[in-house]
Amino acid sequence: MNQNRRQRRPPINRERRRQRPPVNRKRIQRQQSRKRYLILTAGIVLVLCIVAIASVIYLRRTNPKSTQPATANPPDSKKATTTPNTLLVNSTHPLPNDYHPDDLVNLYTQEDRHFSLMSADIQVSKPVFTAMNKMFSAATQDGVKGFVITSGYRTRKEQKQLYRTTANGTAAKPGESEHETGLAFDVGAKEYTDFDQSPQFEWISKHCADYGFILRYPKDREDVTGYPFEPWHYRYVGKKAAKAITGKGITLEQYHEEQNNQKEVSTSILVCHPATGEGRVKPDQRSSKSSTTTESYCHYSCQRGNG
Ligand SMILES: [Zn+2]
Repeated sequence: MNQNRRQRRPPINRERRRQRPPVNRKRIQRQQSRKRYLILTAGIVLVLCIVAIASVIYLRRTNPKSTQPATANPPDSKKATTTPNTLLVNSTHPLPNDYHPDDLVNLYTQEDRHFSLMSADIQVSKPVFTAMNKMFSAATQDGVKGFVITSGYRTRKEQKQLYRTTANGTAAKPGESEHETGLAFDVGAKEYTDFDQSPQFEWISKHCADYGFILRYPKDREDVTGYPFEPWHYRYVGKKAAKAITGKGITLEQYHEEQNNQKEVSTSILVCHPATGEGRVKPDQRSSKSSTTTESYCHYSCQRGNG
């Protein structure tokens, strides 16, 4: 029996070997080519997805306004990516956690500086540097030298550290400091401990508005600004706002209030009653259509161009 089995098996195996290999090879080749095709297709799709996502991220970063409605970014917008000069930052208008100005320059590396520096790592926004350098150049020409910049831009981390290490109320809370915008700097005078007693303070108080700066925390305005008198802290707001604020003797908070009131007045319209000639001020176009009764009209006299 054993001998018979041994004799029969080899022919069967030989038969199988002869028949199967050609079929298997073709199948395997087909399967391998399918696999390669699938891997290649998946790879192309993956690369396209990565490119698409990277393009969207790049476009959003380079042109953030395009993804926002036209009404976004008012002057005091908390999420502004490009800092408006008159941005209001205080305890009721804190900056967002991820806020970071994108136009900072290191003052130490700037050529033709007309002021000294307390340290080599002080930064401010570029337009602020341009304006402050012009200002200190004019001071030098007037014979007033010795301005020393002691502080500029601060990161959130630096402001946190400062807030922790100073007496309560001395430094602004993290997120509530103008130093985090890159639009403010602190200045001192060589040979003077009290800056407000120096000729430098006298000069800068008189001329800072001409260069777009304001003394941000004036004397006796703590009830409005939340801070006592800081003769060393200057804030860039642009020439127009600086002249309006300094000229009227108001603060940035009050300037914002004025601006908001003006906006309200400009958006209102005077509607004239066709019969009586009396008019009324309505805040928007929709409400002017809602009523034409004489009772609802206030006693504004209609003038040409109105109504
Ligand atoms: Zn300051």
